[in-house]
Amino acid sequence: MIEMIAELIKRDLAYQAEDKSVYFRINKFPEYGKLAHLNLEELRPTGRVRSDEYEKENIGDFALWKAWDEEDGDVGWDSPWGRGRPGWHIECSAMSTVLLGDQLDIHCGGVDNIFPHHEAEIAQSEGVTGKKFVRYWMHCAHLLVDNQKMSKSLGNFYTLRDVIAKGYTGREARYALLRVHYRAPLNFTFEGMEESRQALTRIDEWLERLRETSESASPESPGALVPDDNFQQTLDDDLNISGALGVLFESIRETNRAMDANEFGPGAPVYLFTKLNDIKPQMIAEATRNARAAAEQFAKDSGAKIGGIRRANQGLFEILPRDRAPQLTEETQIEKTVRVVSTVDYLLVD
Ligand SMILES: [Zn+2]
Repeated sequence: MIEMIAELIKRDLAYQAEDKSVYFRINKFPEYGKLAHLNLEELRPTGRVRSDEYEKENIGDFALWKAWDEEDGDVGWDSPWGRGRPGWHIECSAMSTVLLGDQLDIHCGGVDNIFPHHEAEIAQSEGVTGKKFVRYWMHCAHLLVDNQKMSKSLGNFYTLRDVIAKGYTGREARYALLRVHYRAPLNFTFEGMEESRQALTRIDEWLERLRETSESASPESPGALVPDDNFQQTLDDDLNISGALGVLFESIRETNRAMDANEFGPGAPVYLFTKLNDIKPQMIAEATRNARAAAEQFAKDSGAKIGGIRRANQGLFEILPRDRAPQLTEETQIEKTVRVVSTVDYLLVD
């Protein structure tokens, strides 16, 4: 944070005012206000405000470093600008730069964070790096509980711990939160938790049935019916998760019907699992790397040479030893199988 503020001062984008606080100089950052479609004229000081905020050059300038005052009590750190504390926005810019780099593909947050928080993040980060900070901003609507704003006085304030204490799992809570499109207000209710439990049971039973069917898979098995799912395309449309889950449940209906009618060859689940895996190619790439690392470890431990890694069904990877040296024990000759989660498991893992 200190490095970023120092750089902003060096670039004349920030200044220390009479009150010893350091402010961002929004007049020097013409992009300021673009995300929230703000008219900077509206941020011009009026006489009264100006007298309250005499230290700042411009009423819109926001604090990067707030000088210590009595109200801060024990809260304070030393800095090149004296004792104080960071402004409300700088930690986000500093943390994301350290952990994720200068540029982010997607930045999420609530609609109420657009201004001033996200405007300030853009100004700070781009002010330091000169690079576009975020490619896509995704702002979610407010969370409602029982159709009302969550508040302690209304008695509708729940922490995750409260929800779990009522007998729900983290997985059920996660499903309840992820099933609504991010732009739509999410109304949390315990009926919704019950619906999530039922939806997950339906998915679990379906996966179990597919696994059982695929166990009888053989190379001769016909592929038979494989539902055409456009889960990914739907998700690609502005993260339309509710639509994508609709596609998933349509697939579940179709495959269950086909299995009931014996129209579903044992090869079909294999294909379906592969397709589900394709939804997250980077996840598969990571799983493959992990499988490879496990294979290398296996080889090191056992002295076996690895012939290759084969992607099997059900999100499994098989590691094939290249030379089955006779001195190897039965155990080390066994093709080591590393289980990786399918995308559905990944999304819904407990
Ligand atoms: Zn933030």
